[in-house]
Amino acid sequence: MADIVIPAEFLPTDGRFGCGPSKIRGAQLEALVTRGATILGTSHRQKPVKDLVGSVRQGLADLFDLPDGYEVVLGNGGSTAFWDAAAFGLIEQRAENLSFGEFGSKFAKAAAAPWLQAPHVVEAPGGSRAELEIVEGVDVYAYPHNETSTGVMAPVVRAAGDPGALTVVDATSAAGGAAFDVSATDVYYFAPQKNFASDGGIWLALFSPAAIERVERIAASGRYIPEFLSLKNAVDNSRLNQTLNTPAISTLLLLDDQVQWINASGGLAWADTRTKTSSSTLYDWAESVDYAAPFVRDPDHRSQVVATIDLDDAIDAKAVAAVLRANGIVDTEPYRKLGRNQLRVATFTAIDPDDVQKLVGAITYVVGALQS
Ligand SMILES: *Cc1c(COP(=O)(O)O)cnc(C)c1O
Repeated sequence: MADIVIPAEFLPTDGRFGCGPSKIRGAQLEALVTRGATILGTSHRQKPVKDLVGSVRQGLADLFDLPDGYEVVLGNGGSTAFWDAAAFGLIEQRAENLSFGEFGSKFAKAAAAPWLQAPHVVEAPGGSRAELEIVEGVDVYAYPHNETSTGVMAPVVRAAGDPGALTVVDATSAAGGAAFDVSATDVYYFAPQKNFASDGGIWLALFSPAAIERVERIAASGRYIPEFLSLKNAVDNSRLNQTLNTPAISTLLLLDDQVQWINASGGLAWADTRTKTSSSTLYDWAESVDYAAPFVRDPDHRSQVVATIDLDDAIDAKAVAAVLRANGIVDTEPYRKLGRNQLRVATFTAIDPDDVQKLVGAITYVVGALQS
C-alpha cells in the first residue's frame, strides 16, 4: 500500500486540503518576507502594526459590505476564546445553542457558565442539522454557519425571538468562503486559519450596534469579567486598531493579504462561486460512483466549504488518506471524533477548483489500486 504512486496527471499543484490550519497561498508567504520585512519584529503599539490592523478591519468591512453602525472587532485567543468571552460579556441570562457537531456543542458548554441560566440546547445527530426554536427568555441565539466537524451548513437567518435577542453566528470555517446577509446577524465571528488562509490564535467578529450596546450594558452591570475575555475591552481596543495584549503579527499579515486577494478577485460573491464549484466537484463525483456517497444526506444541508464523503466499508478510508498523504496530498482524514469511514476535504477559497478536480482523480486512482 505504501508504494502506490499516484500518476502526475492526478497530482494537485498544491496538496493541502485540510480544514484548518489550511492552505496558505505562496503569494501570502512571499508577502510575509517582503512586506513583513518592515513590520515583523516591531512594536504593536506603533503606527505600522496599527495600520496593519486597520487594513485588516477595513478590508473585512469592504468584503462583508458592512451595514451602517456595524464594527469589525478582534481579540486574541481564537474562536474558542470567543465562546468564553461571550459567556462573560454577551449572554445576558440565557443562550440557545444549536448543536449538530463538535463546534456547536463546545459553545453550548461554554454557555452553561454558572452565572447564566442553563442554555436551551437543540441537538441533532452528526450529518444533519438542528433548527432554531424560539424560546421566551433567550437573549442570544447561537449556531454555526458551517459545522466543520461534519460538513453541514446552516442558512444565516435572524432568530425572531424576544425584542433585543441577538443572533450570534460561529463563522470560523464559513467566513470568507460563503455569501450571506450580514444584517441578519448581530455577531458573526471567526478565526483566520480557514477561508482566510492564515494562522490561528486570534478571533475577529462583525458586531451590530445592538451587540455593542449589549456588551456595554453587561460590562457596566458589575458582573465579574476577566480582562483578557472582556468584549468591552476588545471593542475599545479594536477602535484604536490594537489588541489588549501582543497579537501575532505574521497572522495579521497573512490574513490581510488574503482579504485583499479575495476583494481584488471579486469579493464574497466570487469566493462563494469558487467554493461551490469545488465542493460540487466532490459531491457530484461521490454520487456518481458506487463506493462513495456524501455523508450529509440532505443536499440542502451540504457544506460548500467542507465536503465529507463516506466510503463503502469495503474500502478503508484511512488507507486511502494514508496513500494520499504519502503522495503529498494531506489532511483528508475525517474529524477525529466522528469516527466514520470517511474523507473530509476543505474547499476553502484559497484552494484551486482545478486542484479539487485532480484530487478526485487521485482518490479514484488510489481506490482502484487498493482493490487490485
Ligand atoms: C475551527 C473552528 C473553531 C475553533 O477555532 P479556534 O480558532 O481553533 O478556537 C470553532 N468553530 C468552528 C466552526 C471551527 O471550524
